[in-house]
Amino acid sequence: MRVNNHTLRDSTIMMIDDEMITMEIVKTYLEEEGYSNFHLEDQPSQSIHLLEKVSPDILLLDLVMPEVSGFDVLVKVREHPKFKRLPVIILTSVTETSSKLKALDLGATDFLAKPVDPSELRLRVRNTLAAKAYTDQLTFYDPVTNLPNRRSFNDNFEWIIDKANRYGEELALLNIALDDFGRINASFGFDGGDSVISMIAERIENSVRKTDIIAGKIHGEAVPSNLFRTDGGAFLLILERIEESTTTAIIAKRILEEINRPLFVGGTEICLTASIGISTFPHEGRDRSTLQRLANNAREYVRTQGGNSFQFSSYEINSIYKKRLKTEANLRNALKRGEFVLYYQPKVSAKTEEIQGVEALIRWRDEDNNHTSPQKFISIAEETGLIVPIGAWVLKEACRQIAEWSRLGMIRLGISINLSAKQLIEKNFFMVTRKIIKDSNIDPSLLTIEFTESLLMEETEQRLRQLVELRKIGVKLAIDDFGTGYSSFSYLRRMPVNELKIDRSFINAVPNDQSSSAIVTSIVFLARQLGLKTVAEGVENESQHRFLNEIQCDQLQGYYFSPPVSARELYDNNFSNIEPEKMHLSN
Ligand code: C2E
Ligand code: CA
Ligand code: CA
Repeated sequence: MRVNNHTLRDSTIMMIDDEMITMEIVKTYLEEEGYSNFHLEDQPSQSIHLLEKVSPDILLLDLVMPEVSGFDVLVKVREHPKFKRLPVIILTSVTETSSKLKALDLGATDFLAKPVDPSELRLRVRNTLAAKAYTDQLTFYDPVTNLPNRRSFNDNFEWIIDKANRYGEELALLNIALDDFGRINASFGFDGGDSVISMIAERIENSVRKTDIIAGKIHGEAVPSNLFRTDGGAFLLILERIEESTTTAIIAKRILEEINRPLFVGGTEICLTASIGISTFPHEGRDRSTLQRLANNAREYVRTQGGNSFQFSSYEINSIYKKRLKTEANLRNALKRGEFVLYYQPKVSAKTEEIQGVEALIRWRDEDNNHTSPQKFISIAEETGLIVPIGAWVLKEACRQIAEWSRLGMIRLGISINLSAKQLIEKNFFMVTRKIIKDSNIDPSLLTIEFTESLLMEETEQRLRQLVELRKIGVKLAIDDFGTGYSSFSYLRRMPVNELKIDRSFINAVPNDQSSSAIVTSIVFLARQLGLKTVAEGVENESQHRFLNEIQCDQLQGYYFSPPVSARELYDNNFSNIEPEKMHLSN
């Protein structure tokens, strides 16, 4: 292992002193030496909180401060599981030996006399950091993978739990063990075993990273993770800030897939499998030893079942994930098997009640004739990236239907389709969409794309441009669920939209609730000033209808007029009385 000056200069240096000026001077001296990461704190009472946040490599601590003494801070630092071994250099003008002895007794690493001599300061800081880096490497890291080891896990896990507890966050602990690692060592020797372990460590780390992309977490942060090599063919992985309950299962599955990929040892191709046991905080356990035990037991269980799988420690959590993964697997096949169909809900004129367009809403009926609501499977499709082919199917099917209706000479009936933000991640979204529209030979203005306000707020200009391009070829744009986001009319400047669909939650409350009525009235008014059409969603009764007509909302959609129905029903209910000779049949 090498400790070079370059890495030492990347060290994070924290200082606690009641006099800002002293810290500034010290900082300047150290900056001249090339250090650049500093955290200066003149409020010693905040020190532990800050230490956790900053996680420094060295602490320069003043001994004499007005409210809290350096001794007190030192005691707290040494009590903290993560900072037991943090190098602390005491800066003090106190010369008596008794203070020095006391500080040493409390665990100070070194001393520096104030006023600080620049050369002495630089040397002490450098030597202390070098010593720390060296012992850290020996004590806390696995030499084969360079990953932190079991000891480091023990030091860290406890305070990671503390932190999660304080911020009300969820954690998962994954105990990952290669099935039959002994066989590798036996067949390829320890060198072969070591190289396998290094490759596997890399693949586990990649899986965590990749999953963020797969899950489409483009806006969210990556799941913070800590991987430790504990022994032989075993790893512990801590996933922090788990926001969606299924993220852990997705990551575990991904890790197994990555481990399953063939790898080469000394020119021989081998395939490995692993067993993963998972425990979650706070649901299954609240302390380190419980979580470790549960994850370990779950892993042992997987192993007895033949390995190459993962398992949560509690039955309930397990069954939730299993069900969700089953849905995910079925969803993957749904397109091939033709299990999707589009239903159509009329959008009627508020004035005349005549149908002016329809919204296409996807329905999924799987082979066992189970219906899954789009609310459920759209989010799974988004997380898995399946929304891209599904979205393309929806578009194709809607275009086909528009073409069929015009062929039947029924009417020029436009269709609105729903767009998921994840579809815009695809760089070729515009090209693919344009091709589908072209191939179907329809008038692009019969197609409206609905998307939510959040998309306007969160997407990059580059992605939004794909929608502007669509607008340019004649496709119409609508904002769905308008009023629910934090957006305002000013966001509309980002996009040349044609239509606002006022969210059902407001329509629900009109005309009885005054503030909802006021909001709906002003949305309709402002939209008109901007030349936008308004559509009220979820109209369920006559009084809503009347109110919306009075304030001159353009179109209404809701159960009061019709639920979403099949294309056949839509035709039979609304257009079957059109006599054939009046239809402009094209063939
Ligand atoms: P949405 O775009 O807001 O669609 C309107 C939802 O409200 C539909 O639910 C519709 O059946 C329901 N609805 C219509 N009128 C009424 C009413 O009077 N009262 C009540 N309570 N509900 C009414 P659905 O079909 O279950 O779809 C739910 C959501 O799934 C849609 O919300 C949309 O966000 C999404 N979705 C549906 N199809 C697609 C699709 O093809 N692609 C994408 N990306 N999302 C879709
Ligand atoms: Ca919609
Ligand atoms: Ca909506």
